[in-house]
Amino acid sequence: MSLSQEQILEIDKNHIWHPYSSINSTQELYAVESCSGVSIRLKDGRELIDGMASWWSMIHGYNHPELNQAIHRQLESTAHVMFGGLTHEPAAQLAQTLVEISPRDLEQVFFCDSGSVAVEVALKMAVQYWHAKGLPQKHKILSLRSGYHGDTFGAMSVCDPETGMHQLFNGVLAEQLFSEAPGCKFDQPWDDRYIQDIQQQLEQHHQQLAAVILEPIVQGAGGMRFYSPEYLRRVKQLCAHFDVLLIADEIATGFGRAGKLFACEFADISPDILCLGKALTGGYLTLAATLCTNAVAETICAGEAGCFMHGPTFMANPLACAVANKSIELLLKSPWQEKIRDIEKGLRGGLAPCSELQSVADVRCLGAIGVVEMKEPVDMARITPAFVQQGVWVRPFGTRVYVMPPYCITTEQLTTLTDAIFQVLSHH
Ligand SMILES: *Cc1c(COP(=O)(O)O)cnc(C)c1O
Repeated sequence: MSLSQEQILEIDKNHIWHPYSSINSTQELYAVESCSGVSIRLKDGRELIDGMASWWSMIHGYNHPELNQAIHRQLESTAHVMFGGLTHEPAAQLAQTLVEISPRDLEQVFFCDSGSVAVEVALKMAVQYWHAKGLPQKHKILSLRSGYHGDTFGAMSVCDPETGMHQLFNGVLAEQLFSEAPGCKFDQPWDDRYIQDIQQQLEQHHQQLAAVILEPIVQGAGGMRFYSPEYLRRVKQLCAHFDVLLIADEIATGFGRAGKLFACEFADISPDILCLGKALTGGYLTLAATLCTNAVAETICAGEAGCFMHGPTFMANPLACAVANKSIELLLKSPWQEKIRDIEKGLRGGLAPCSELQSVADVRCLGAIGVVEMKEPVDMARITPAFVQQGVWVRPFGTRVYVMPPYCITTEQLTTLTDAIFQVLSHH
C-alpha cells in the first residue's frame, strides 16, 4: 500500500487543491519523502535546506526527538477528548505557560484550531465586549493596510483590501476601516507625522470602533515590512485614549521570530487581546490561541449572552497542547536570543550582495526573518525549480523573496541558503 512518486503526483494533479492555487496549474510540485532537522528530503532523493520553516512554524526543525516523544506519550493517554465540560493537563499546563510568558495582563486563554480562527475569535471577543457594555454600535474594526490576518471571512475583512482581494468578495465581507501601513521603518527616527493617519481615523470613528487589529512590528504575508516600535506604542496610547480595544496578531511573530519572545515587547506594550498560532506547537500540529485580559473576559460574560459564543470541536486538542508545551519548554531553555541574533547576522551578511542587483528594490532583515524585495513580481514557475536546483526551499510571494528558517539552522546551512538566493536572483 505505498504509492510511487509518480502516483502521488498524478493523484495530486487530478484531485488536490494547494494554497492559493489553480487546479490547472502547470507549476512543478515536489513530493516529500521525509523531513528532519532543517532539511526536506524529496521522493527523488534530493535534499533541500528549508528556508521557510513551513511558514514560520517549524522553529526547532523537523522530526525532533523530544517533540516526537511528547506526542507519543500523550497518544498513549488521550489523543483527543471534547473540551465542553471536560479539561485536561496538557491544556492547563499550556494555558498557565502562555499566561506567564505573554505580555502582562493577558489572563484568559481560548484555544482554537488555526490562526485564522484565532483571529475570528479575537474579533468576536471585541464585538461581544462592546455589546455587553451596552454599546453595540461599536462593532467595526480598524486595520492597517499591508496587513494579513488569515483567510476566513472575518479575518479576510481585516486583511489589506487590495492583496486581500476585497473586490472579489464585495458585498459579502464585513466592511471595516483601514489606516495607512505604518510609514516609519524599524530603525528609522520617529516623526509624529507617522501617526497622523491612524490618529485621525480613531478621532473620527471611535464611536463605531470595537478594536484596532495589527501585527506588531512585522507585517507578514501582506507585505513583509518591519516598522517602528514607537508606532506600536502610540497606537496603544491612542486606543486607550479613544476607548477602543487593541488586538495584537502575533501568529507569525510569537515565540521569538523577530528577536523578542513576543513582538509587543519591542514597544513594551500589552494588548487587550492577543492571537497566537504558527510556531505554538513547534510546527507539529495545528493549534492556535486567543488570549485576553480579565477585563475583556469579565465584561463579555456579564453581558446579555452570559458567555463567549464560540466552541470548536477540536478545541484544546491534547496532542497539540502536549507538543506545544514541549516546544515552548525547548525554546525557553535554549539560548534562543543568541541564536536569533546569529541568524540575523547571517541573513544580513548573506543577503547584502543582493542589494547590488539591478532587479532588487530592497533588502531587510529583522531577527530570523530575511526579505529581498524585487522590483517586479517573481516568476514562480521559473524561480522555484531554480531554488530546488540550488538545494534550498524558498517560496517567494509576489515581489518578495523571503526566508524565516528553523532556529536550529547552522551557520554553514544559512550560508548555503543565502548564497543560493543570491545565485538564483542574479540569474532571474
Ligand atoms: C498565518 C497567519 C494567520 C493565519 O493563520 P492560519 O493558521 O493560516 O489560519 C493570521 N495572522 C497572521 C499574522 C499570520 O501570519
